[in-house]
Amino acid sequence: MDEKKDANKCPKCGAALSEVITTKSGKKLQRCSTGIWNVETRQTDGCDFVKWLPVEPVTLNEKCPKCGSPLLMTMTRFNKKMKKCSTNVWDPKTKTASGCDFFEWVKTVTEPLDETCPKCENKLVKVTTSNGKQMKKCSTSGWDTATRTATGCDYVEWLK
Ligand SMILES: [Zn+2]
Ligand SMILES: [Zn+2]
Ligand SMILES: [Zn+2]
Repeated sequence: MDEKKDANKCPKCGAALSEVITTKSGKKLQRCSTGIWNVETRQTDGCDFVKWLPVEPVTLNEKCPKCGSPLLMTMTRFNKKMKKCSTNVWDPKTKTASGCDFFEWVKTVTEPLDETCPKCENKLVKVTTSNGKQMKKCSTSGWDTATRTATGCDYVEWLK
């Protein structure tokens, strides 16, 4: 199958795909043009094919610690953010990656705040999650992985 030729056709029914839609989380997709969202039944009438498009990487103002090239911010299919070296390229023909292999998962960032928790009067911390949301929470709060329960104070304030 010639992938380029069929890229704008629905693999399920062969109809043309719609224009690229950008979702709230910044992901891009194309729907089958025969599929219509029915507000009453809350289901797709017709073909329900959806094609997710890769999110284009953003070049960061940061240098790779391994080779000094600029870093890129990329997003995986599962909405996880990753920084990787811009010299790293995947060759689909040989199925190998070339260039520098540096990458780093973007994790939740926690910064101490000079504010006290209204519930327990311990210090608050500011948390930036990997998808860019920010919240203030109590520094005594934690997560017990053994019992899978939250520990400490449960004060949370989401920032807009
Ligand atoms: Zn279709
Ligand atoms: Zn590098
Ligand atoms: Zn607290």
